[in-house]
Amino acid sequence: MNQTLVNEIVRKVVEVIKERQAIPVEVSARHVHLSQQHIEILFGNDYKMTKKKDLSQLGQFQCNERVTLIGPKGVIQGVAILGPARHKTQVEISKTDARVLGVDPPVRESGQLDGSASLYIATEKAVIEARGSVIVAKRHIHMTPEDAKNFNVHDKQIVSVRVKGDRTVVFEDVVVRVSSHFKLNMHIDFDEANAAGCRTGAVGEIIG
Ligand SMILES: [Zn+2]
Repeated sequence: MNQTLVNEIVRKVVEVIKERQAIPVEVSARHVHLSQQHIEILFGNDYKMTKKKDLSQLGQFQCNERVTLIGPKGVIQGVAILGPARHKTQVEISKTDARVLGVDPPVRESGQLDGSASLYIATEKAVIEARGSVIVAKRHIHMTPEDAKNFNVHDKQIVSVRVKGDRTVVFEDVVVRVSSHFKLNMHIDFDEANAAGCRTGAVGEIIG
């Protein structure tokens, strides 16, 4: 084999390996998960939320319905609702949103609401107080057990990820979440995406 051909093959193999290690990045907009009780207060008894589109993670979807968030300093309208209903209402906003609203939510993994912030959630029909429900989602990667093997990481492991964009950033403190129900995706919010000058469709790479 001549050297040019060998070089070409090596280049292609490296490309394939890199592609296998690429993690698709999705940018999550502010959203709420509502409990069934809150759905009924905000939209009416026995109200069934309607699906706008499926999300990348199995069984998760965005609803056509929207809500308004009301804080001590400001209001954000047209906030997306993600289904299905949860055991407890959870509001996920960026630090920028938190400033606009005048609240100070902690950075947390989904579901870890102890000591989190409070806000009001409104529709045309009603207003509820979402006490201890507001977090800034901790950046994370969803992956299957097979992906975890490929990346040589485990559930709850904290990793660093280089996200390529107009101003490439290495994100530390990224939590790995492993489940056979998951699909490989890194979730960051708009503040993080803007910091890296990237959007949904960018790719991340676990480093170190
Ligand atoms: Zn996620």
